Amino acid sequence: MDDQTKSRFSTQTLVAQALGACDPVTRGIVPPIHMATTYLRDADNGYRAGYVYGRTDNVSVQQAESLIAALEGAEEALLFGSGMAAATTVLLALEQPTHIIASQVMYWGFRSWLREIARYGHSVSFVETSDLEAVRAALRPGKTGLFWIETPSNPLWTVTDIAAVAEIAHGVDAVLCVDSTVATPIFTKPLALGADIVMHSATKYLNGHSDVVAGALATSRDGPLWTRIRKLRGQHGGALGPFEAWLLMRGMRTLDVRVRAQAKTAASLAARLTDHPAVAEVLYPGLPQHAGHAVALRQMAGGFGGMFSLRIRQGERAAIAVAAKVELWKRATSLGGVESLIEHRASIEGAGSPCPGDLLRFSCGLEDCDELYLDLARALALAA
Ligand code: PLP
Repeated sequence: MDDQTKSRFSTQTLVAQALGACDPVTRGIVPPIHMATTYLRDADNGYRAGYVYGRTDNVSVQQAESLIAALEGAEEALLFGSGMAAATTVLLALEQPTHIIASQVMYWGFRSWLREIARYGHSVSFVETSDLEAVRAALRPGKTGLFWIETPSNPLWTVTDIAAVAEIAHGVDAVLCVDSTVATPIFTKPLALGADIVMHSATKYLNGHSDVVAGALATSRDGPLWTRIRKLRGQHGGALGPFEAWLLMRGMRTLDVRVRAQAKTAASLAARLTDHPAVAEVLYPGLPQHAGHAVALRQMAGGFGGMFSLRIRQGERAAIAVAAKVELWKRATSLGGVESLIEHRASIEGAGSPCPGDLLRFSCGLEDCDELYLDLARALALAA
């Protein structure tokens, strides 16, 4: 699909048809997987088709990238072998020693990597980015060059105002990068709100079937940082493989219906659990009492995502017991797949995590909402 055709259609239509990708040889309505690692050179010593070597050039990867770019309203998207590969490449592409302001509450794996960022010459301040005064107070004029926020953020589902942080970042000529894994491009478009780069662990909702590890970056405009990111991915060999890219594109065809159904289930369970005697607090940005609800209403259109957390009244041991007693919910890390997951986050995040010990994180899948509720209510009663 060319840009003009794309602009005529909704996200739902674009993903369902994967931008109309098909097989030009057979006219099959599903594109083939391009597995070649190298390409024939022409008689005149050139590469007429524009493809040279598999580490940087692959049609299956490019097709999935075009779909992500369309979803995010981006000039370009790049796929990586994991969300972590995508996120770390942004930092590794910074040209000079940079001060980074990052969300205190975020995916723990990236937060621990950022904690060691000094080895690359950079420094980081972790702040509560939902508090704009705290963000302003962390600014180091002439040094702050990158803002990294996750919203809603793991596992408290704190909401950061993307447009407001973009304004602060651009006021000091810094770049704003948003980890939008949980919001998905269906509910939030960070680039339209002023972000420069949006990042996804495509392992989660974009793929949606817990069978591909992948990461994505998408940019609002090409520029020196983006050029270095693209170059680094090629040099380090960080790109996603073609088979995974093909599976990812197949997964994305149902993105719109999946995440809307998952968000509906999360909203329903969060509301029903609010008054449960075993539950001290429900954390879900769709609840009016959630601290980030007003901002979420502004920047999330159509839903508040498929993730929520519970704080268990009787503390950490009871929380772990609940996770052990559910049957339908699967006890595993990760999120965004079609099967519902439950996790005691403090067990995986370890020391220094802002995650309370009594917290359980839930990723809603596509099962029947009442069955999920009954399974959880039974486990809450057994663990009480
Ligand atoms: N960002 C978020 C919000 C995540 O939840 C995760 C993984 O759990 C990542 C980034 C890292 O992605 P990956 O596991 O694909 O490397």
